[in-house]
Amino acid sequence: MRKYSLPDDFVDKLRSQADIVSIIAEYVPLKQKGRNYWGCCPFHQEKTPSFSVAPEKNFFYCYGCQAGGDVFRFLMKIENIGFVDSIKLLAQKLAVPVPEKEQSETERAREKEREEILRANELARDFYSACMTKSALGINALAYLTGRGLSVDQAQEFRLGFAPDDWDKCATALQKRGISADILVKAGLAIPRPQSGVYDRFRNRIMFPIEDIRGRVIGFGGRVMDDTQPKYLNSPETPVFNKRKLLFNIARAYRAIKQAGFAVVVEGYMDAIALASNGIDNVVASLGTAFTPEQARMLLHYAPEIVFAYDSDSAGQNATLRALSIVRSSGAVVRIASFPDGKDPDEVLRKYGPQLVRERITAAAGLLEYQMEQALSGVDYSDLAGKVTVVGRAVPYLALADNLVEVDTHIARLAEKLAIDENSIRGELRRARGENSQQRPVAVQVKRGADSKLTGAEEIVLRQALEQPESVQSIRSQLSPELFQPGSRRKLAEAIWRSYSDGIPASPLDLLQSLDEDTAKFLSRLTMQEDQGPEKDQALGDSIRIILLAKLNEEYEAHRMQADEMLRQGDLNYVQELKNAQRILTKISDLAKSPG
Ligand SMILES: [Zn+2]
Repeated sequence: MRKYSLPDDFVDKLRSQADIVSIIAEYVPLKQKGRNYWGCCPFHQEKTPSFSVAPEKNFFYCYGCQAGGDVFRFLMKIENIGFVDSIKLLAQKLAVPVPEKEQSETERAREKEREEILRANELARDFYSACMTKSALGINALAYLTGRGLSVDQAQEFRLGFAPDDWDKCATALQKRGISADILVKAGLAIPRPQSGVYDRFRNRIMFPIEDIRGRVIGFGGRVMDDTQPKYLNSPETPVFNKRKLLFNIARAYRAIKQAGFAVVVEGYMDAIALASNGIDNVVASLGTAFTPEQARMLLHYAPEIVFAYDSDSAGQNATLRALSIVRSSGAVVRIASFPDGKDPDEVLRKYGPQLVRERITAAAGLLEYQMEQALSGVDYSDLAGKVTVVGRAVPYLALADNLVEVDTHIARLAEKLAIDENSIRGELRRARGENSQQRPVAVQVKRGADSKLTGAEEIVLRQALEQPESVQSIRSQLSPELFQPGSRRKLAEAIWRSYSDGIPASPLDLLQSLDEDTAKFLSRLTMQEDQGPEKDQALGDSIRIILLAKLNEEYEAHRMQADEMLRQGDLNYVQELKNAQRILTKISDLAKSPG
């Protein structure tokens, strides 16, 4: 069931040896206050500390962004690594030797394949680079790059290369160095021929190696030098190459991103290379028009802010703008730099020099501000039709924005600019939001979710189950996980109930490893709360009753509504539905009367 391959007891041993406070203090200055330690959260931007570490519980939790978990979760998040790597890192910090992996046969094979693919990619990078700089084959490619303002040194710094115009030069060269045809295909470097053998995927293209955060070559982008299509050809998805997560230049840029407090995202390889070569080191290229939430999350590990410096023409596309809204909902502060005459950053740099690019990045507009500019651009809003067009374009963005103060400001500005009444924009906005909310599923769930009494009751029950494992049996006999509201609450209940039926009393630290991110955050918050007072048994009984009552109320409502509907349609079975509703009502009043 577990996804990693180090022995469990090693993980437990490591965790008990590690002092969570001193490990976290390596990254975050902490001050003791009462039993816990406090500091400014490294995962979101803040000036007053809401990030706390509880040494007795071995947990951390941020009251600002809800990040939380044990020492492994902390290392995974701050170093942007997986669980196994977090174990290795902690072992290294504590100078404890890591036991040999007890991998399964398939895991070993998969790991070996990944390593072979990475090695094939590295050899391919060296091969392409040699073709460009050390052989006559690459003369045109080098001339093309220098023609675009790149020096030979820069080309070498970014390990650019050239894939010769030949069917199997790369495949042959790599096979001579011990890479099998199978691995060449799996790495996306070659394509199988119908009969037998393979041929090179990349031919007559300038090659841009794409590295992961650790500088390992995970794939390539290949660009043509003429008008051949496609202009760019990227590696296909492979066991090491996931397009949704790749960021060109991230290995060189991440320290600068951390230092600057923001990342600059450009569209193309040449933009990233041009900016990085001109002292704008915190730049990465997204290599696709739609920036993904995964890419946002990678950057958010290093800085809270992302400045997009896309070509003005493509950034103007509505789809891109919507994608940016999605990126912002992942927690990033989003700004957009715009350049004169719709040029891309590489062109601007060559025409106006790095100073202007830097200024435009510093002066980049906030997302909503930029969206409002886009709504206004190209429309003559002196007449009514133009005003209607602008409002129609602006409202969807306003409806997606979550900062109400900002929305208000922009409504006022827009109204002034269009010389119309603010209320007409607000009316449209209400309508847009109303239409959205109708698409939300199941009214009953919305109602239950809004009940803070129920939410509080669920938390009391779950905390009791966590703090006193001996109470789980009795709680389980009265409540099933389905009675909890869907999402983290229900998932946590399921995990606790399940761990109990496995016969292991569930400690929060044990549970943590099998939980998804949101549920882990929820568990961390519950764990960090102060102990419940002496009335906790009474509170538990009341809470269980509240949860049961909520469920019965929901069922009662459902039967009653069903009866109404049947009556309206002249279906005489409505009497039966009414009886069902009545039966539940009796249960409700019994339960409400029963002593706790
Ligand atoms: Zn935080």
